[in-house]
Amino acid sequence: KNSRGNYTVSFIEGDGIGPEISQSVKRIYEAAKVPIEWESIDVTPIIKNGKTAIPDAAIESIKKNFVALKGPLATPVGKGHVSLNLTLRRTFNLFANVRPCRSVPGFKTPYDNVDTVLIRENTEGEYSGIEHEVVDGVVQSIKLITKPASERVLKFGFQYAESIGKPWVRAVHKATIMKMSDGLFLSTAEDVAKEFPAVKFDSELLDNTCLKMVTDPSYYQPMVLVMPNLYGDIVSDMCAGLIGGLGLTPSANIGDTCSIFEAVHGSAPDIAGKDKANPTALLLSSMMMLQHMGLNEFAVKINKAIMETLAEGKALTGDLKGTASTTQYTDAIISKL
Ligand code: NAD
Repeated sequence: KNSRGNYTVSFIEGDGIGPEISQSVKRIYEAAKVPIEWESIDVTPIIKNGKTAIPDAAIESIKKNFVALKGPLATPVGKGHVSLNLTLRRTFNLFANVRPCRSVPGFKTPYDNVDTVLIRENTEGEYSGIEHEVVDGVVQSIKLITKPASERVLKFGFQYAESIGKPWVRAVHKATIMKMSDGLFLSTAEDVAKEFPAVKFDSELLDNTCLKMVTDPSYYQPMVLVMPNLYGDIVSDMCAGLIGGLGLTPSANIGDTCSIFEAVHGSAPDIAGKDKANPTALLLSSMMMLQHMGLNEFAVKINKAIMETLAEGKALTGDLKGTASTTQYTDAIISKL
């Protein structure tokens, strides 16, 4: 809290549609009188000791405020570009990525009963970035799994499951094939489970999870799924597809001291600058942030206005088959606050 009694939160507006959806969040927070002051930070990368790095001022801001809201950051494809998203996750040791996915009442999709929570290990696995060329035409990519990182994300998974009233953790893996790496993740899960006797624990093969998820997502409603990095990335996008797309899915990157909240989607260059983007995912990410900060009453109030606007269906953005602009959708939410 600052001297004016407000909370200061770092805000990375991001690339592409980032500034437009950020504007929407700012307007809605102002209308809802949320006691937050935004500290805009620029994360345009710098080169430090030959490596891509986040500017010091940005790091200081997040360290000081403990909490940041983040728009999408574009990563150029190809050699020499380290993803800034990865850099942020590493800089702040954001070890767990929480991705809830809930059907929006009134917004029709082939499934109307999705309520899943997925926790993705966020620092290693297939995204360790350790790749090399053995000989011309042969490359290796190393999947790194460590006991400490697995333990940390699994412990968080059990605690989170208890805190949201879903006392059931399922570890998702392919230990049948990747006996050592996924095997370590699974055996660590079994060990950690012993520390949480009030939480049910079991495990499932990734392919089986995918099959069952698209057959009947409601099956996964009572539990929290915890899995290694790549699986979590893919399965969470699949879950997003079940409820109406990337415009609706939030996430939280949880670290030891700092946490960064962001939409699951990217910078959507195809619709950037056209007032077409759906700000809901960033808004719902900011709702997770409010809950994390203990500002539940504001989260409830804004969430209700969002859900009413979506259910009414009069001011939906293009990704939800509507014709409203980002601004019109935002206006509709504000009118309900
Ligand atoms: P993307 O998520 O940006 O877009 C995929 C599709 O979904 C596009 O058709 C886009 O128009 C649509 N879409 C996404 N968000 C939307 C929204 N809020 N409203 C309406 N439609 C939306 O994925 P991409 O095109 O593969 O990636 C673009 C860039 O974003 C890349 O540089 C990538 O590296 C980056 N990216 C960043 C993050 C992040 O910052 N966390 C995550 C994923 C991708």
